[in-house]
Amino acid sequence: MKTRMIFVGPPGAGKGSQAKILSEMLNIPHISTGDMFRMHFKNNTPLGQLAKSYTDQGTLVPDSVTNEMVRDRFMQEDVKKGFILDGYPRNPSQADYLNELLSELGWSLDVVINVTSPDEIIIDRITGRRTCPVCGSIYHITNQPPKVDGICDKDGATLVQRKDDTKETVVKRLSVYHEETYPLIAYYKSAGLLVDINGNRDLKPITNDILEILGA
Ligand code: AMP
Repeated sequence: MKTRMIFVGPPGAGKGSQAKILSEMLNIPHISTGDMFRMHFKNNTPLGQLAKSYTDQGTLVPDSVTNEMVRDRFMQEDVKKGFILDGYPRNPSQADYLNELLSELGWSLDVVINVTSPDEIIIDRITGRRTCPVCGSIYHITNQPPKVDGICDKDGATLVQRKDDTKETVVKRLSVYHEETYPLIAYYKSAGLLVDINGNRDLKPITNDILEILGA
């Protein structure tokens, strides 16, 4: 089974939701740099303070900071089981850094899953997105509503809208995606690692397609 993977694709295409589901099903750590930055901010660390000025505007946190944070995470024991990278790498220079890190560890990537969705749909998906501040579960006010309005099904916490999930910031994040992250698609395609997945469907068939790609 493939266990070392990256999820790429625009914000709001469903990468995070799929990564969370698969991480639980397969017992492989889900490494989301966006979640890591939000956790640092919540814990009021210096890294969190620094990252917030970028995340709030929808621009990328500097590579040196992000790469170092990912390196630290990769030193933890659980990554030996594999990893689902979500939101990292976000540009070709981070991809080069990851290659070096993996070769230092004697590992290589098994697959890069490109979850696609058109921009118009993304704007609706992101502005309607609500997340649980406690467990990180992701909902959508109409497409994936919780059982009780505004309350997380798993732990009863009050759902919140991410500060960068407003229309204005989403437009910025999409332009950052097209300019900085999109070149990764060609990068991983030429490495023979890229598989496209249509993210514009219900969660379940997408999960099933990914499981098949992984040979799980
Ligand atoms: P996400 O949750 O993946 O949408 O990320 C939220 C925000 O965190 C992004 O808009 C960036 O400001 C920051 N971020 C997440 N991952 C990265 C990364 N790999 N490089 C730089 N900034 C990142």
